[in-house]
Amino acid sequence: MLKAGLSMFDRFNRHIHYLRISVTDRCNLACTYCMPEGHVAKLPREDILSFEQIAELTRTAVELGFDKVRLTGGEPLMRKGIVDLVRMLAAAGGINDFAMTTNGILLAQHAKPLREAGLHRLNISCDTLDPQRFSAISRGGRLEDLLSGIDAAQAAGFVKIKLNCVIEQSPEEPDAVMVSRFGAQRGFEVRYIRRMDTAKGSFWRVLGGDGGHCQICNRLRVSSDGRIFPCLFSDLHTKVSELGPRQAILAALAIKPESGRQSDNQFYRLGG
Ligand code: SAM
Ligand code: SF4
Repeated sequence: MLKAGLSMFDRFNRHIHYLRISVTDRCNLACTYCMPEGHVAKLPREDILSFEQIAELTRTAVELGFDKVRLTGGEPLMRKGIVDLVRMLAAAGGINDFAMTTNGILLAQHAKPLREAGLHRLNISCDTLDPQRFSAISRGGRLEDLLSGIDAAQAAGFVKIKLNCVIEQSPEEPDAVMVSRFGAQRGFEVRYIRRMDTAKGSFWRVLGGDGGHCQICNRLRVSSDGRIFPCLFSDLHTKVSELGPRQAILAALAIKPESGRQSDNQFYRLGG
Protein backbone atom coordinates (compact mmCIF):
# COMPACT_ATOMS: atom_id res chain seq x y z
CA MET A 1 0.00 0.00 0.00
CA LEU A 2 1.39 3.35 -1.00
CA LYS A 3 0.28 6.22 1.22
CA ALA A 4 0.52 9.96 0.67
CA GLY A 5 3.99 11.46 1.09
CA LEU A 6 5.48 8.36 -0.52
CA SER A 7 5.61 6.14 2.51
CA MET A 8 5.14 2.44 2.01
CA PHE A 9 3.12 0.40 4.47
CA ASP A 10 2.59 -3.33 4.39
CA ARG A 11 -0.57 -5.32 5.18
CA PHE A 12 0.22 -5.09 8.88
CA ASN A 13 0.63 -1.34 8.79
CA ARG A 14 4.38 -1.49 9.20
CA HIS A 15 6.27 1.38 7.59
CA ILE A 16 8.73 -0.27 5.19
CA HIS A 17 11.61 2.02 4.31
CA TYR A 18 14.83 0.06 4.80
CA LEU A 19 16.49 -1.80 1.92
CA ARG A 20 19.30 -4.26 2.67
CA ILE A 21 21.22 -5.20 -0.44
CA SER A 22 23.56 -8.17 -0.61
CA VAL A 23 26.11 -7.27 -3.28
CA THR A 24 27.89 -10.63 -3.39
CA ASP A 25 27.61 -14.14 -2.00
CA ARG A 26 31.40 -14.42 -1.87
CA CYS A 27 33.39 -14.01 1.31
CA ASN A 28 37.01 -13.95 2.45
CA LEU A 29 36.07 -15.64 5.74
CA ALA A 30 33.94 -18.69 6.40
CA CYS A 31 32.47 -18.14 9.85
CA THR A 32 31.27 -21.37 11.40
CA TYR A 33 27.81 -19.95 12.20
CA CYS A 34 27.34 -18.60 8.69
CA MET A 35 28.96 -20.89 6.10
CA PRO A 36 28.78 -24.65 5.84
CA GLU A 37 32.12 -26.46 5.90
CA GLY A 38 33.87 -27.33 2.64
CA HIS A 39 32.91 -26.28 -0.84
CA VAL A 40 30.04 -23.81 -0.99
CA ALA A 41 28.22 -23.43 -4.31
CA LYS A 42 28.29 -19.84 -5.54
CA LEU A 43 25.57 -18.10 -7.48
CA PRO A 44 26.32 -18.00 -11.22
CA ARG A 45 28.19 -14.79 -12.05
CA GLU A 46 25.80 -13.94 -14.87
CA ASP A 47 22.91 -13.83 -12.37
CA ILE A 48 24.59 -11.26 -10.10
CA LEU A 49 23.04 -7.79 -10.39
CA SER A 50 25.29 -5.27 -12.12
CA PHE A 51 26.03 -1.91 -10.49
CA GLU A 52 23.58 -0.29 -12.91
CA GLN A 53 20.85 -2.74 -11.89
CA ILE A 54 21.56 -2.18 -8.19
CA ALA A 55 21.51 1.58 -8.75
CA GLU A 56 18.21 1.40 -10.65
CA LEU A 57 16.65 -0.77 -7.96
CA THR A 58 17.84 1.59 -5.22
CA ARG A 59 16.64 4.66 -7.12
CA THR A 60 13.24 3.03 -7.53
CA ALA A 61 13.12 2.16 -3.84
CA VAL A 62 13.98 5.76 -2.90
CA GLU A 63 11.20 7.00 -5.22
CA LEU A 64 8.84 4.68 -3.37
CA GLY A 65 9.83 6.13 0.00
CA PHE A 66 12.81 4.08 1.15
CA ASP A 67 15.38 6.25 2.91
CA LYS A 68 17.68 3.73 4.56
CA VAL A 69 20.02 1.45 2.63
CA ARG A 70 22.57 -1.08 3.84
CA LEU A 71 25.08 -2.93 1.68
CA THR A 72 25.97 -6.39 2.89
CA GLY A 73 26.98 -9.78 1.52
CA GLY A 74 28.71 -12.22 1.65
CA GLU A 75 31.48 -9.77 2.26
CA PRO A 76 30.58 -6.53 0.47
CA LEU A 77 34.23 -5.45 0.24
CA MET A 78 34.89 -8.56 -1.88
CA ARG A 79 32.73 -7.09 -4.65
CA LYS A 80 35.09 -5.58 -7.21
CA GLY A 81 34.55 -1.85 -7.57
CA ILE A 82 32.48 -1.58 -4.37
CA VAL A 83 33.65 2.01 -3.81
CA ASP A 84 32.28 2.94 -7.25
CA LEU A 85 28.93 1.41 -6.33
CA VAL A 86 28.85 3.37 -3.08
CA ARG A 87 29.63 6.55 -5.00
CA MET A 88 26.85 5.86 -7.53
CA LEU A 89 24.24 5.23 -4.84
CA ALA A 90 25.30 8.19 -2.71
CA ALA A 91 25.33 10.53 -5.70
CA ALA A 92 21.77 9.56 -6.67
CA GLY A 93 20.57 11.10 -3.39
CA GLY A 94 17.55 10.36 -1.21
CA ILE A 95 19.29 8.00 1.20
CA ASN A 96 19.28 9.44 4.72
CA ASP A 97 21.08 6.53 6.29
CA PHE A 98 23.57 4.71 4.06
CA ALA A 99 25.41 1.92 5.85
CA MET A 100 27.45 -1.20 5.25
CA THR A 101 27.90 -4.38 7.26
CA THR A 102 31.39 -5.79 6.82
CA ASN A 103 33.72 -8.27 8.45
CA GLY A 104 36.31 -5.47 8.40
CA ILE A 105 39.17 -7.55 6.99
CA LEU A 106 39.59 -5.30 3.94
CA LEU A 107 38.68 -2.03 5.63
CA ALA A 108 42.31 -0.95 6.07
CA GLN A 109 42.42 -0.29 2.34
CA HIS A 110 38.79 0.64 1.74
CA ALA A 111 37.65 2.73 4.71
CA LYS A 112 38.87 6.10 3.47
CA PRO A 113 37.63 5.70 -0.13
CA LEU A 114 34.27 4.45 1.17
CA ARG A 115 33.89 7.50 3.38
CA GLU A 116 34.89 9.83 0.55
CA ALA A 117 32.44 8.06 -1.77
CA GLY A 118 29.57 8.95 0.56
CA LEU A 119 28.99 5.98 2.87
CA HIS A 120 27.56 7.21 6.20
CA ARG A 121 28.01 4.34 8.63
CA LEU A 122 29.66 0.99 9.26
CA ASN A 123 28.65 -2.07 11.22
CA ILE A 124 31.72 -4.22 11.71
CA SER A 125 31.46 -7.84 12.76
CA CYS A 126 33.56 -8.67 15.80
CA ASP A 127 32.86 -11.83 17.76
CA THR A 128 35.99 -12.01 19.93
CA LEU A 129 39.31 -10.27 20.60
CA ASP A 130 41.26 -13.45 21.09
CA PRO A 131 43.36 -14.14 17.95
CA GLN A 132 43.04 -17.93 18.21
CA ARG A 133 39.32 -17.82 18.82
CA PHE A 134 38.92 -15.35 15.95
CA SER A 135 40.78 -17.67 13.61
CA ALA A 136 38.70 -20.65 14.76
CA ILE A 137 35.34 -18.84 14.44
CA SER A 138 36.16 -17.35 11.04
CA ARG A 139 38.00 -20.46 9.79
CA GLY A 140 41.37 -18.81 9.26
CA GLY A 141 40.82 -15.05 9.62
CA ARG A 142 43.49 -12.85 11.26
CA LEU A 143 42.34 -10.67 14.12
CA GLU A 144 45.06 -8.14 13.31
CA ASP A 145 43.43 -7.49 9.92
CA LEU A 146 40.11 -6.76 11.60
CA LEU A 147 41.78 -4.47 14.14
CA SER A 148 43.64 -2.55 11.41
CA GLY A 149 40.35 -2.24 9.57
CA ILE A 150 38.63 -0.82 12.64
CA ASP A 151 41.48 1.67 13.15
CA ALA A 152 41.22 2.71 9.50
CA ALA A 153 37.47 3.21 9.81
CA GLN A 154 37.93 5.57 12.74
CA ALA A 155 40.83 7.36 11.05
CA ALA A 156 38.65 7.85 7.96
CA GLY A 157 36.13 9.72 10.09
CA PHE A 158 33.37 7.14 10.43
CA VAL A 159 31.38 7.84 13.56
CA LYS A 160 28.67 5.78 15.28
CA ILE A 161 30.50 2.59 14.33
CA LYS A 162 28.64 -0.45 15.62
CA LEU A 163 30.10 -3.86 16.33
CA ASN A 164 28.03 -6.95 15.49
CA CYS A 165 28.85 -9.76 17.88
CA VAL A 166 27.34 -13.21 17.38
CA ILE A 167 26.74 -15.04 20.65
CA GLU A 168 25.62 -18.58 21.39
CA GLN A 169 23.37 -17.78 24.34
CA SER A 170 24.33 -14.69 26.26
CA PRO A 171 26.41 -11.50 26.16
CA GLU A 172 28.11 -12.80 29.32
CA GLU A 173 30.09 -15.37 27.30
CA PRO A 174 33.87 -14.73 27.49
CA ASP A 175 34.21 -13.72 23.81
CA ALA A 176 31.29 -11.31 24.05
CA VAL A 177 32.61 -9.80 27.29
CA MET A 178 35.89 -9.03 25.48
CA VAL A 179 33.98 -7.35 22.68
CA SER A 180 31.89 -5.39 25.15
CA ARG A 181 35.03 -4.06 26.90
CA PHE A 182 36.66 -3.21 23.58
CA GLY A 183 33.50 -1.41 22.43
CA ALA A 184 33.38 0.62 25.66
CA GLN A 185 37.07 1.59 25.30
CA ARG A 186 36.69 2.69 21.71
CA GLY A 187 33.22 4.21 21.94
CA PHE A 188 31.45 1.65 19.73
CA GLU A 189 27.93 0.42 20.32
CA VAL A 190 27.81 -3.38 20.42
CA ARG A 191 24.88 -5.36 19.07
CA TYR A 192 24.67 -8.95 20.27
CA ILE A 193 23.13 -11.28 17.76
CA ARG A 194 22.23 -14.69 19.08
CA ARG A 195 23.22 -17.34 16.60
CA MET A 196 20.24 -18.16 14.41
CA ASP A 197 19.37 -21.04 12.15
CA THR A 198 16.93 -20.20 9.39
CA ALA A 199 16.37 -23.87 8.47
CA LYS A 200 15.50 -24.83 12.04
CA GLY A 201 13.48 -21.70 12.59
CA SER A 202 15.62 -20.60 15.53
CA PHE A 203 15.22 -16.89 15.51
CA TRP A 204 16.06 -14.25 18.09
CA ARG A 205 15.81 -10.56 18.55
CA VAL A 206 19.05 -8.63 18.21
CA LEU A 207 20.16 -7.26 21.60
CA GLY A 208 20.83 -3.56 21.16
CA GLY A 209 19.17 -3.33 17.73
CA ASP A 210 15.80 -3.54 15.99
CA GLY A 211 16.48 -6.75 14.04
CA GLY A 212 14.22 -9.70 14.70
CA HIS A 213 11.40 -7.65 16.18
CA CYS A 214 8.66 -8.58 13.72
CA GLN A 215 6.12 -6.00 14.88
CA ILE A 216 8.42 -3.14 13.95
CA CYS A 217 10.14 -4.78 10.98
CA ASN A 218 10.80 -2.09 8.40
CA ARG A 219 12.89 -3.88 5.79
CA LEU A 220 13.12 -5.70 2.51
CA ARG A 221 16.21 -7.73 1.61
CA VAL A 222 17.74 -8.08 -1.84
CA SER A 223 19.98 -11.02 -2.71
CA SER A 224 22.93 -10.47 -5.01
CA ASP A 225 21.03 -12.19 -7.82
CA GLY A 226 18.13 -9.77 -7.55
CA ARG A 227 15.54 -11.64 -5.52
CA ILE A 228 13.66 -9.52 -3.01
CA PHE A 229 12.87 -11.25 0.27
CA PRO A 230 10.37 -9.56 2.57
CA CYS A 231 11.42 -11.76 5.52
CA LEU A 232 14.65 -13.59 6.41
CA PHE A 233 12.67 -16.44 7.93
CA SER A 234 10.44 -17.05 4.92
CA ASP A 235 11.24 -18.27 1.41
CA LEU A 236 8.71 -15.89 -0.12
CA HIS A 237 10.38 -13.64 -2.66
CA THR A 238 9.97 -11.77 -5.91
CA LYS A 239 12.46 -11.42 -8.75
CA VAL A 240 13.68 -8.18 -10.26
CA SER A 241 14.52 -10.09 -13.45
CA GLU A 242 10.87 -11.12 -13.88
CA LEU A 243 8.96 -8.10 -12.62
CA GLY A 244 11.35 -5.18 -12.98
CA PRO A 245 12.42 -3.12 -9.97
CA ARG A 246 9.20 -1.30 -9.16
CA GLN A 247 6.83 -4.25 -9.37
CA ALA A 248 9.33 -6.54 -7.63
CA ILE A 249 9.48 -4.14 -4.68
CA LEU A 250 5.71 -3.60 -4.55
CA ALA A 251 4.97 -7.34 -4.87
CA ALA A 252 7.50 -8.17 -2.14
CA LEU A 253 5.83 -5.62 0.09
CA ALA A 254 2.40 -7.12 -0.67
CA ILE A 255 3.50 -10.62 0.43
CA LYS A 256 5.52 -9.59 3.49
CA PRO A 257 4.38 -12.01 6.22
CA GLU A 258 3.47 -10.88 9.73
CA SER A 259 6.38 -13.01 10.92
CA GLY A 260 8.53 -15.74 9.44
CA ARG A 261 8.80 -19.33 10.62
CA GLN A 262 11.59 -21.08 8.79
CA SER A 263 13.43 -20.74 5.49
CA ASP A 264 16.22 -21.93 3.23
CA ASN A 265 17.86 -18.49 3.35
CA GLN A 266 21.54 -18.45 4.17
CA PHE A 267 23.20 -15.57 5.97
CA TYR A 268 26.14 -15.51 3.56
CA ARG A 269 23.67 -15.06 0.70
CA LEU A 270 21.16 -12.67 2.18
CA GLY A 271 23.37 -10.79 4.60
CA GLY A 272 21.58 -11.43 7.90
N1 SAM B 1 30.38 -10.39 5.78
C1 SAM B 1 29.79 -9.30 6.48
C2 SAM B 1 29.93 -9.46 7.96
O1 SAM B 1 30.25 -10.54 8.42
O2 SAM B 1 29.69 -8.49 8.67
C3 SAM B 1 28.34 -9.04 6.09
C4 SAM B 1 27.47 -10.24 5.90
S1 SAM B 1 27.15 -11.15 7.38
C5 SAM B 1 26.13 -12.46 6.79
C6 SAM B 1 26.02 -10.06 8.22
C7 SAM B 1 25.84 -10.35 9.68
O3 SAM B 1 25.18 -11.57 9.84
C8 SAM B 1 27.14 -10.44 10.45
O4 SAM B 1 27.13 -9.53 11.53
C9 SAM B 1 27.15 -11.85 10.94
O5 SAM B 1 27.77 -11.95 12.20
C10 SAM B 1 25.67 -12.19 10.99
N2 SAM B 1 25.41 -13.63 10.95
C11 SAM B 1 25.90 -14.53 10.09
N3 SAM B 1 25.43 -15.77 10.35
C12 SAM B 1 24.62 -15.64 11.43
C13 SAM B 1 23.84 -16.56 12.19
N4 SAM B 1 23.80 -17.86 11.92
N5 SAM B 1 23.10 -16.07 13.21
C14 SAM B 1 23.13 -14.74 13.51
N6 SAM B 1 23.84 -13.83 12.84
C15 SAM B 1 24.59 -14.27 11.81
FE1 SF4 C 1 31.55 -14.08 5.66
FE2 SF4 C 1 30.15 -12.38 7.11
FE3 SF4 C 1 29.31 -14.90 6.83
FE4 SF4 C 1 31.48 -14.44 8.25
S1 SF4 C 1 29.41 -13.72 8.72
S2 SF4 C 1 31.25 -16.02 6.66
S3 SF4 C 1 32.35 -12.73 7.22
S4 SF4 C 1 29.45 -13.41 5.24
